[in-house]
Amino acid sequence: MPRLVMKFGGTSVADMDRIRGVARHVKREVDAGHEVAVVVSAMAGATNQLVAWCQQAAALHDAREYDAVVSSGEQVTAGLLAIVLEEMGVNARSWQGWQLPILTSNAHGSARILDVNGTELIKRFKERHEVAVIAGFQGVHKETGRVTTLGRGGSDTSAVAVAAGIAAERCDIYTDVDGVYTTDPRVEQRARRLDRIAYEEMLELASLGAKVLQVRSVELAMVHNVRVFVRSSFEKPEDIDPPGTLICGEEEIVEQQVVTGIAFSKDEAQISIRRVQDKPGVAAAIFGPLAEANINVDMIVQNVSGDGATTDLTFTVPASDYQRATDVLIKVKERVGYERVDGATDVAKVSVIGIGMRSHAGVAAKAFQALAEKGINIRAITTSEIKFSLLIDAIYTELAVRTLHSLYDLDK
Ligand code: ASP
Ligand code: MG
Repeated sequence: MPRLVMKFGGTSVADMDRIRGVARHVKREVDAGHEVAVVVSAMAGATNQLVAWCQQAAALHDAREYDAVVSSGEQVTAGLLAIVLEEMGVNARSWQGWQLPILTSNAHGSARILDVNGTELIKRFKERHEVAVIAGFQGVHKETGRVTTLGRGGSDTSAVAVAAGIAAERCDIYTDVDGVYTTDPRVEQRARRLDRIAYEEMLELASLGAKVLQVRSVELAMVHNVRVFVRSSFEKPEDIDPPGTLICGEEEIVEQQVVTGIAFSKDEAQISIRRVQDKPGVAAAIFGPLAEANINVDMIVQNVSGDGATTDLTFTVPASDYQRATDVLIKVKERVGYERVDGATDVAKVSVIGIGMRSHAGVAAKAFQALAEKGINIRAITTSEIKFSLLIDAIYTELAVRTLHSLYDLDK
């Protein structure tokens, strides 16, 4: 029998009415002959409340207790959904992470899943036709036996891991949007829903600020080859052929466009170190301390020195880390040896993504021309095999996104 994971986010289980709606979605798949494992988030807002309570209890608190508290939201929705399913005549049992178990690392608050044991679930699919309702976002540390959580948005990752653990044929993520779009529809009305997108492309989109899925869930799906279908939980439960986006391997994508999507992020800050000494060890002396301060550096551009003595180095950090990053650089000034640090926080990163870039030349050149015609200056450029990113002034973000969206025929 085909096996399916269905994951429902916080807005989809926000109250009892919505939980009943979720149960109808589940019943549809059971009636169609699927073996079903459901993964649920906490009710919308519940996790924020739990996090706030930990903060109020003590600003500095033990991460193990944070996990004990914040994991509880999912326990509630898993139990409630199992009750509602039973009432509808569908066999169901709830499961917490430790009960399966879902084994994780012991990085409390952002643990990584190491293994999901699906044996008991599969046995129950066969023997009792029982739906498994699993609390997302949580697991258990192998050695200490303590409850862990996977980081905010982590139930997407739970769902993909469960799908791998029970060898499901697909993992359906029900959310408040009906799929993945070529760009943010709030910026470009003509953005289109993609029928399919490759793992690698989705990984770029997700990490560049298209907040449909937790980035880790996409990594995990790619590693285990789990097909993920993003669809809206607000469609009618009776609808058996709903719109959505399938995230899958390249080989499943027949009509590949060169560019698949445009992502952007406004919470970037630019830092430029002027006249840095051009000698071995300098980059390490700059980026080592930044990493130790837990500052995530993104675009890095360094020029080849003209005079053989000094050069300029530019990189971006999250805008919220801008001040801390500058402080770190001032501390290491002596050791690194540079003239001054310039920075800007009113910048944005716009990225063009598509696996088709691997085999097409001149994709980026077209963008430079189009942006120049609109008078948009490019501060820095970085590229990888399947994307390029441009750092521009933040006020031009929307114009740049729309210009690129139509340039690569994504409107059609
Ligand atoms: N409830 C958790 C959160 O709000 C996990 C999730 O919803 O994915 O972050
Ligand atoms: Mg989410």
